[in-house]
Amino acid sequence: MMGDTDYRSIIKNAIDSISRELEIEIDANDYKTIHLQEVIQCLRRSYYDRTDSKEIERRGFNDLLSGLLRKLEYGSEPKEFAIDDIKLKGQADMIVDDMIILFRPAQTILESPHANDLLYLNACLWIYDKTIGVIIYITSDKEEFTFSLTRDKKMFEEVIRRVRVLSDLLNEQKTPILEPSLNCMDCQYYTRCFISKKHSKQLSIAEMFGISKEN
Ligand code: SF4
Repeated sequence: MMGDTDYRSIIKNAIDSISRELEIEIDANDYKTIHLQEVIQCLRRSYYDRTDSKEIERRGFNDLLSGLLRKLEYGSEPKEFAIDDIKLKGQADMIVDDMIILFRPAQTILESPHANDLLYLNACLWIYDKTIGVIIYITSDKEEFTFSLTRDKKMFEEVIRRVRVLSDLLNEQKTPILEPSLNCMDCQYYTRCFISKKHSKQLSIAEMFGISKEN
């Protein structure tokens, strides 16, 4: 904070407003339209986003890159893929020379791409009927590195399975099972999933190991 100006909260508010502007518009009550973003992340998180959502903590401008490019529609308008009576809706960040391109932020240089980015890219290849795509990771130090992918049927079948599961669970109003991963640490539903406030209590070491006090 400098003088009376709280720059940190000004920047945070700016990031929040831009992020809201760039967010994929999801009709929470349309269970027959599932967005690709919803099935490449934890299904429980997507379910809560639709049924009892909580604001997410946004991190920085680097995270806005993909949304900005999607909004500008560099050769890529949102597209739907029919799965029986359900529509899977996805959008690539960019399509150049028949190649799908995704841009993603990264903290450090990665040895391999994130699994959910691969699922997203592969599904885009099927949705747009293309064969080759790349993910370009960009770090905050402006380093960039690229991974390419040729479309894979088995990987897409997994996405289709998850689309059906999410649509069914939304219809039945049943909460999906936990999908524990490193992403839980940044998830706005962490306490809802892992700490039941009503029932939580501090356990003593003896209680943790089932040792009675009389022993
Ligand atoms: S905390 Fe983990 S399991 Fe729970 S909704 Fe978030 S990502 Fe899913």
